[in-house]
Amino acid sequence: MALLEVRGLHTFYGNIEALKGVSLEVEEGEIVALLGANGAGKTTTLRTISGLERARSGSVTLRGKDITRARAHEIVLLGLSHVPEGRRVFANLTVEENLNLGAYLFRRQPKRIEERREAVYGIFPRLHERRSQLAGTLSGGEQQMLAIGRAMMVEPKVLALDEPSMGLAPILVRQIFSIIEEIRQRGTAILLVEQNARQALRLADRGYVLETGQVVLQDTAQVLAEDPRVRAAYLGGEPEVKAPQEADTQS
Ligand code: ATP
Repeated sequence: MALLEVRGLHTFYGNIEALKGVSLEVEEGEIVALLGANGAGKTTTLRTISGLERARSGSVTLRGKDITRARAHEIVLLGLSHVPEGRRVFANLTVEENLNLGAYLFRRQPKRIEERREAVYGIFPRLHERRSQLAGTLSGGEQQMLAIGRAMMVEPKVLALDEPSMGLAPILVRQIFSIIEEIRQRGTAILLVEQNARQALRLADRGYVLETGQVVLQDTAQVLAEDPRVRAAYLGGEPEVKAPQEADTQS
């Protein structure tokens, strides 16, 4: 059984059917990319999985438990943490206070919070350097790190990330993507919504392409990156420039 199993989700905003039967899976140790144009339903998929929107039908199963009707905080406790689009750190609180709020559900276990904070500082040394600084004074990239760090405070099994690279300079995008890889290596699976399809497919193991609330393509990241439809719609139509084979450079 997959760590996260989403089956036939239908989610509405009033009469608008934003999700028309979305199914996807995230296995232990995987990075899964969710791609699609603006308005395709990527954010709604994450929000429905994490209990912020209600599905009208379909199911979400996390570690074998049906969480379709669970409350958002129960879902966090069961092991799924969500970093929403646009970061939303508490600007008037310090970095450390923001992290502590991420572990609010562990508030009666101060030792556990401290351990988690140290683990998060291990992934983000920059946050440790800036721990006493007000979050509002951090750069955009640092605020994204803080938003991810805050979600990592609960030691999630699955981390759902909504557009972590949005609005960041290319060098920071690379940093955020390498942090995502490190988080995976430390045992957290990732469901990644990204506009930056090229980078997302380089990082991901598998991917799904959403169009108007439906999954229209799903495959390994490598196959998706070579698919002409994905290229035309999301990769600017350019063929990927292949690095020379190692054998060639050695000979
Ligand atoms: P983006 O990349 O622009 O965030 P997305 O793929 O995440 O796009 P969603 O935000 O999930 O797409 O939106 C899916 C559909 O639901 C769109 O048609 C959108 O207009 C609609 N929608 C999203 N949020 C609301 C809302 N709060 N009320 C009404 N309609 C909404």
